[in-house]
Amino acid sequence: MSVSLKRPAEVEAMRRAGRLVHRALERCRTAVRPGITTAQLDQIALDAWLEAGARGLFKNYPTYEPGKGFPGNTCISVNEEVVHGIPGPRTLQVGDLVSIDCGILLDGWCGDSAITVAVGPVEPKLQRLIDVTRETLELAISAVRPGLRWSDIARAMQHHVESNGFSCVREFVGHGIGRRLHEDPKVPNFTSPEFERRGDFYLQAGMTIAIEPMVILGGQEVVVLDDGWTVVTRDGTPAAHIEHTVAVTASGSDILTDGR
Ligand code: MG
Ligand code: MG
Repeated sequence: MSVSLKRPAEVEAMRRAGRLVHRALERCRTAVRPGITTAQLDQIALDAWLEAGARGLFKNYPTYEPGKGFPGNTCISVNEEVVHGIPGPRTLQVGDLVSIDCGILLDGWCGDSAITVAVGPVEPKLQRLIDVTRETLELAISAVRPGLRWSDIARAMQHHVESNGFSCVREFVGHGIGRRLHEDPKVPNFTSPEFERRGDFYLQAGMTIAIEPMVILGGQEVVVLDDGWTVVTRDGTPAAHIEHTVAVTASGSDILTDGR
């Protein structure tokens, strides 16, 4: 594991990237309504960062060769889609949950954040799913400080999810972020003997990580659709995904994708 620590000026450069991610996502949040397509939301996000001179990090991921890799500018995942949904002609309906994930590069630094939005009024259990996912992210961020082991935070995240009757996705996790979208370490939203033996790490000031709980209403199992990207729940129940890029400071944490 090679974890790069960022100097304060580098964290500020990442905040500029993160601010732009926030702007793109807030424009999408405002635009979410019944009848809009996920392709239209994708275009709204793209326009927000192109006008600022940034580059998207999801289109053609992972090689960035034209015409290869992920086909969207953002990942947009609806209802039982957990992550990596491909924007397209699908029209949002009242009662849907839509998760929008956005990663960009600005002046050589990355920002990565995701929101889950309810389309019109949704069933109370779906609103609870969104709320618990947001609370799980918030409890992790407010626990972050140098010297803590990640597994202790991940255990608290998992407990919050499972004590509310929901499940944590196991196959996809958060990550270090900086010059590259995905850096060491892996930042799971649950813990396991395997993680504690091989992947656990101590938080240090200057680390920058993307924390991104993915929470399923039903069981934890997911499958990838034939398009090679879209991750859906095996039992068809809905999922939520909320993410922030966060810097570890001398005394706690600093969210880089909240628009400040
Ligand atoms: Mg993301
Ligand atoms: Mg991420």
